[in-house]
Amino acid sequence: TELLKAENLTKAYAGNATPVLGGVDFAQTEGEFLSVVGPSGCGKTTLLRCLSGLMRPDAGGVSHRGESFTRPPEWLSIVFQDYNRSLFPWLTVRGNVGFGLRERDRAKKAAMVDDAIDAVGLSHAADLHPWQISGGMQQRCALARSLVSSPGLLLLDEPFASVDAQTRIDLQDLLMKLVAERGISALLVTHDIDEAVFMGDRVVVLSTRPARVVEEVIVDLPKP
Ligand code: ADP
Ligand code: ADP
Repeated sequence: TELLKAENLTKAYAGNATPVLGGVDFAQTEGEFLSVVGPSGCGKTTLLRCLSGLMRPDAGGVSHRGESFTRPPEWLSIVFQDYNRSLFPWLTVRGNVGFGLRERDRAKKAAMVDDAIDAVGLSHAADLHPWQISGGMQQRCALARSLVSSPGLLLLDEPFASVDAQTRIDLQDLLMKLVAERGISALLVTHDIDEAVFMGDRVVVLSTRPARVVEEVIVDLPKP
């Protein structure tokens, strides 16, 4: 079944002559790790905003599990590029991961938070604040926060763009392991073709602005 479908997504920002999205069409199946790759500035962040409901397209539409979009479904979770700005500095890692988690049973909630923190390898830093840990650890924290609600689909916007090369490799491996283990579908947008191919089961290639899908490639490589 189709988990996510984008049909003719079109978007222009006020005051800009060239639209950002020029009619983007693709679909993602349940369980798939889909990479969307395109040059910087082509509209990837805009596309994610439309897919997640943060922004309304000018034309075209998004459907989730066959239903046309009304509001962000609860099974959808987002990891932003600027994770350092998406974590609350006044909360600890544990506080950030638990923030917004809708679970009323306190013991159950604590167990879910600890499980997510453990899964990303941050147990030793659970009581530290974001400004006390490295960039890579901050992104692990953001990842834990997005996983804690057991989402069906994880939307990722260049999540590893601002970490060093070794940290990026560690985080890529961790993310692939986690989504595979937990049966989570993932949609990764990136400008990095190597990353797109390394992580994706399938790669959707966008043109320069106005973005359209110019190619779809099935990646036939063994996963680590
Ligand atoms: P990417 O994520 O591929 O780098 P973006 O979707 O962030 O691309 O941006 C696409 C283009 O739209 C860029 O030229 C950017 O300057 C412009 N843009 C993004 N957000 C806005 C906005 N809110 N208002 C006006 N222009 C924007
Ligand atoms: P990214 O970080 O993926 O490149 P952003 O959405 O942060 O995408 O911004 C991309 C570009 O769009 C930036 O150069 C920024 O200056 C511009 N931009 C973002 N929001 C606005 C806005 N509200 N109005 C005008 N330009 C914007």
